Amino acid sequence: MTSAKTSTIHRPSTGEPYESVPVTSPQELDEVFAKARRGFLAWKQISGTEKGKLLFRLANRLDELSEEFAQIEARNTGKAIRETRAEAARMPGTVRYWAGWADKLHGTTIPVDPHFHTYTVREPYGVVAGIVPWNVPYAFATRRIAPVIAMGNVVVLKPAEETPLTALRLAEVCREVGIPEGVVQVVTGSGSVGAAMVTHPETDLVLFTGFHETGKIIARAAADNLTPTIQELGGKSPNIVFADANLDEALDAAMVSVFSSTGQMCFAGSRLLLHESIHDDFVARLAERVNALKVGDPEDENTQVGPHVTRRQCEKTLAMIQSGIDEGATVAAQSKLPGGVLANGYFAPPTIFTNVSSDMEIVRKEIFGPVMTVFKFKDDAEALEIANDTSFGLAAGVWTSDLSRAHRMAQGIHAGRIWVNTYRIINDMVPGGGYGESGYGAEGGTETLSSLTRSKSVQIALNAGLIAGQPRI
Ligand code: NAD
Repeated sequence: MTSAKTSTIHRPSTGEPYESVPVTSPQELDEVFAKARRGFLAWKQISGTEKGKLLFRLANRLDELSEEFAQIEARNTGKAIRETRAEAARMPGTVRYWAGWADKLHGTTIPVDPHFHTYTVREPYGVVAGIVPWNVPYAFATRRIAPVIAMGNVVVLKPAEETPLTALRLAEVCREVGIPEGVVQVVTGSGSVGAAMVTHPETDLVLFTGFHETGKIIARAAADNLTPTIQELGGKSPNIVFADANLDEALDAAMVSVFSSTGQMCFAGSRLLLHESIHDDFVARLAERVNALKVGDPEDENTQVGPHVTRRQCEKTLAMIQSGIDEGATVAAQSKLPGGVLANGYFAPPTIFTNVSSDMEIVRKEIFGPVMTVFKFKDDAEALEIANDTSFGLAAGVWTSDLSRAHRMAQGIHAGRIWVNTYRIINDMVPGGGYGESGYGAEGGTETLSSLTRSKSVQIALNAGLIAGQPRI
């Protein structure tokens, strides 16, 4: 695809421009959707088994290209190379999981009446518009392509303007392994391209991942055509540590839950809740770790925390840290930032706040940066009250050795995913969606089969004269 307009990609560690990418024009978008419609009709003619084979071939090729994807992602997002390597190594498994489902979709027969043959079939929606953010672009591209096409749909995917490189490369690899024209297409550009996708007459389903306020705009716009949307939005997840937990493990997890990916994770355990009996000691141990974090060049193997992906996000994190200070929270620890050639990079210091209260901005808003707020609670009831005092409901962590308490907390927390004695374990087989402002439409495992397909019923009269139960007119 050729386009007159381009956007410049910057290196997050230094802020320097290093590549430019064409931006999809409105006219090109129409061509993409027309091609997607034709691609859908062609894809329908291919059996599930053949679709699965193509996806398995894609997975094998992604295994071979794992290092290349890790390098592109690290450069484009500024994430530490050891993180992008781990992520790139997981993606072929994701593709294989969905490849396995491609020939296992089926309906049921329903014994309504012996004089009728009644059955259902599961059908794909058709053309799916996937719109994704910049925080884990390769994983999102893979998760938008593999299950969507395995279920018989085709996809038009828009990565975030700042991080299109792995998605563009993935679309090339899809073509290389033989996935037909029009089945996987990537378009580029900012929110206006996304907005045009949402209202495009050829769009049958919108899969959106991003900021909750954008999700609301998209839901309103899609409503004009009654186009269904699935919304994976942000979070402000509580991570609750009881005194009877394995505190060493809980400490490691608390660090990873907020500071890996520079905190740019929807699942970040950004509200840490500590039982009052362990609070001071736990915070002191966390502070020691945060003060020693190596923040720096993502391409350096020793770097633990890289820059933000975008300058805009970095400025937002810095503003939120300042707002925490202005509102009277205590900075319990803060990492040092790199200087030299990295001085203009998109860095904000990993920070822990204590003495926080529920009305502070740093507690109410999703920061999407390496900032942890720490609460103290006295008993289970208070822990639950603090945990649920948020408009979001994406995920939660609970650390305890008391089995009954673990179940009680899992039952009481208003969120779509609960982790007990672990954190941020994401698996393609396991469903989870948001509650409240974290969105709707669960994805993962068999839930995905339902969300990416729809059920059609067929009722066949086996004898003449069976207009059941209806008076003749
Ligand atoms: P964003 O909403 O600004 O952008 C996300 C995508 O939407 C981008 O591709 C953008 O170009 C596009 N977009 C922007 N305006 C649009 C519009 N009006 N119509 C259509 N598309 C539009 O979000 P972001 O800042 O890129 O990402 C961060 C957010 O994503 C955070 O809130 C984070 O929690 C959330 N997120 C959620 C999940 C999840 O699984 N629940 C995962 C990762 C990130």
